[in-house]
Amino acid sequence: MPHTRIEGFPAEVRITEVGPRDGLQALPDWVPTEAKIAMVNDLIAAGLRQFEVSSFVSPRAVPQMRDAAEVFAGIDRGKGAELTALVPNARGAARAVEAGVDAMVVFLSASESHNQANVNCSRETSLTAFREICRIGEEAGIPVQGAIATAFGCPFEGDVPVTAITELARAYADMGITRISLGDTTGMATPLLVQERCRALKREVPEAAITLHFHNTRGVGLACVYAGLLEGITRYESSLGGLGGCPFAPGATGNICTEDLVYLLEESGVATGVDLEAVFAVARRMEKILDRPLPGQVMKAGPRLTLHRRDAVPCAAG
Ligand code: ZN
Repeated sequence: MPHTRIEGFPAEVRITEVGPRDGLQALPDWVPTEAKIAMVNDLIAAGLRQFEVSSFVSPRAVPQMRDAAEVFAGIDRGKGAELTALVPNARGAARAVEAGVDAMVVFLSASESHNQANVNCSRETSLTAFREICRIGEEAGIPVQGAIATAFGCPFEGDVPVTAITELARAYADMGITRISLGDTTGMATPLLVQERCRALKREVPEAAITLHFHNTRGVGLACVYAGLLEGITRYESSLGGLGGCPFAPGATGNICTEDLVYLLEESGVATGVDLEAVFAVARRMEKILDRPLPGQVMKAGPRLTLHRRDAVPCAAG
């Protein structure tokens, strides 16, 4: 078959694996440091090159991330993977610099009430703190990236106006933060909103390099990626096996699944550099470590040309 690609899609895409941070942070059971390190190292071997490894937040607030520095120390840096971490404040930034992060990620919410609920301050106060983090980053020669949570809807306020996104992105860009991710924290994105927000951002903040971060809460996570691809967006965040959410909170589902995303992209003619079978193996090991099935779908069914014995396939009745 000649190499073909969906019309309008980019030729290649970079995937940031956020499973080690976004996927694991809410899990009540401790995931051993060695398991976190092995997960990242095995995914580097599988071809992934961008990772949101951990979060330098208060160990009391997020106990699962208390080993952030040890995880960074254990990762194989030989293949040139880019390792980032979330930093909420100057203290976190100092720890991140010491741990040798390749970039720091600051974050706020597009809606005022979610920012208050998430980090207990106003968006304006968040932005002020980020200037200090940028100064620390500049001194250490470490770039800062910016995330905007609830970028497609807020669980407390509902629709988030597109101007909230463009204004916050403008504030980021004005402090030198041009790699900006739009996060769909509670799975409220739709393809139409993705198209609208990407176009507005490209128009109002042309220097922004956009990353999209979707959750599959309402089953349209990959459809939102599809909309992003049609807008020419080449950076997406996903998590191994669809890790994420809280197992005890009904409706709080995880990020879009890395293997399912790779499958969609490669089958659409978009290069990812990722070995799908190798990622399946890492996801299956993670299922064993967590002792529960992960939501990823392609890891269960296999790629579409996985062949079966005829007598192994149910027919007629179901
Ligand atoms: Zn997320």
